[in-house]
Amino acid sequence: MPQQYSARGVGAAPDPETGFDGLGAPIGDFTRSAAAAAIGRLARRSGLFCFHFEHRVRLPLPEHWLPEGRPDLGEPPGWQAGVLPESKYQTFRHDLLLGSFHPGHRGKWSAHELCHGLAGFAWKPGATPLFHALAARLAEALPVALWYFLDEAGLARCSQHAGGGPLHGDFCARCEEAALAGPVDDGAAERWLEEGRAFVLRELDAVERSRREGRSVAHRLGPLDLASDGLAYAAAHGPRLGSEEMERYVSAFFAPGQGHHPDLDALSARVLELTDALTLGRPAAPLAGDRWRWITQDLGSRLLEVRADCDGEILDVLDTLIDRLAAEPGPEAVEAAWDAYADLYTEWVLPTPEDVFATGYDLPTVAGRSVRQLAEGVASACPGTWEALDAERGAVMTRFVAQDAAIRLPVGRRFAGWLRAAWPGPLADLATYEASLAHPPAADAEALTLGSAPELGRDEAVALSRGVELLTLGHRVAQGPAGLPVAGEPGRVHLALQRGADGDVAIFELPPSVAAALATLAERPADPASVGLDAAETTTLRAHGIIVPDRWRA
Ligand SMILES: [Zn+2]
Ligand SMILES: [Zn+2]
Ligand SMILES: [Zn+2]
Repeated sequence: MPQQYSARGVGAAPDPETGFDGLGAPIGDFTRSAAAAAIGRLARRSGLFCFHFEHRVRLPLPEHWLPEGRPDLGEPPGWQAGVLPESKYQTFRHDLLLGSFHPGHRGKWSAHELCHGLAGFAWKPGATPLFHALAARLAEALPVALWYFLDEAGLARCSQHAGGGPLHGDFCARCEEAALAGPVDDGAAERWLEEGRAFVLRELDAVERSRREGRSVAHRLGPLDLASDGLAYAAAHGPRLGSEEMERYVSAFFAPGQGHHPDLDALSARVLELTDALTLGRPAAPLAGDRWRWITQDLGSRLLEVRADCDGEILDVLDTLIDRLAAEPGPEAVEAAWDAYADLYTEWVLPTPEDVFATGYDLPTVAGRSVRQLAEGVASACPGTWEALDAERGAVMTRFVAQDAAIRLPVGRRFAGWLRAAWPGPLADLATYEASLAHPPAADAEALTLGSAPELGRDEAVALSRGVELLTLGHRVAQGPAGLPVAGEPGRVHLALQRGADGDVAIFELPPSVAAALATLAERPADPASVGLDAAETTTLRAHGIIVPDRWRA
């Protein structure tokens, strides 16, 4: 029985037996809305999943794949204070079926990413730039409709944003949290589904007209302009899409039903099939492949990317292992590819085998997650801890990476949390401190601006500002000789970290009684006297915007 999504089913609890735990992203990303759940089920039946963006090494692009005058697109950007930025080029490839899980992204992304894989891409040898632009536009139509409309149907949002639709550029931690509880029936679901469907149909229509008129026909909706996105994609990816490697990739790795469409009509039809599934509850076919197909496809595309920068006799060797991956998608082919590539690496100047096989998911007998890249991330988020780990670095990172799950926390916080459990002590305290500094809570503009006015009413409840994080450490943090923080003497320390309007983080050391009062206020609002704060303390805390009247937080 094909699993069906029906518009009438919005608000129904998602089925927990759906296997959403195998999708490489938090389960909550697929239980937030009926549309996201439908994508999750289809992805599951297709064996499709997300790689972990921070565990995956982006290979340097072959120079001749770069459009002229855009050398900036070639080298992927590195870690900055514990954040690994995406490069638009390196991340969005419609011909890569696996999704990307980025821990810094909001929950909406996972279904968007896997929707891309399910829809697939259109490509043919010798295609014109207009073909590539329209193919990119078609590939983006449903994932974008999912983001802006279909995923909003039944989606629970925070009290401030409920009913308002997608947040566009803003990020709201409370919306993310609200969505975790599952869909709600707010009576607006049908409207979101209809609008999403209408958006896709208008896009398909604009693409149709573009083909007839031989130009790119615009269809704008607010900030959305897929026509111009499609042109940008064709410009950036043109040389790659016209390369010999692209031709080999498609002919070797894509049987029918596996995501490649030989023309725009076929991709259009697939987009419509999936749109009908999400909005009308019609059945849609999963992809005709399994997990191994997508893994060998992915590895094949990475080896082809390496091949694009090679010359001479090495090409034959690479071709042999690429062909085997395509012919026998399974663990043996992956292992054989590793052995053969590792041999090549001893004789030729190539990207390291560790980097090429760091796909961002587990591989048999081979490390599919990059310990080197995660180590650089931890070093950038927690430099003092990294310095102090010294000879333990290799062992600690190998264990951390093996257990580092797909959760939406930045690398420093994930690492510090893991260290507290695996190896509690001064280094875990130091890492916790550094991670909070590297990834502070967002500034609470209201608390910082409004400060202590107006006066609190009699017995009025206050709460901890959302821009403040409380830390209790078992060791003091001192300033080390190299300017990096180091773990100091044992002893309980209570800190409040607050992000200022300028982005800087202020650190307050709290007396134990104030720390206990704030910890209570973080849990539940209360009037200051009832949690043991005296009038002077209350005034100071309010003046700094650390506590706010509870009614501000509605
Ligand atoms: Zn992204
Ligand atoms: Zn997209
Ligand atoms: Zn919100």
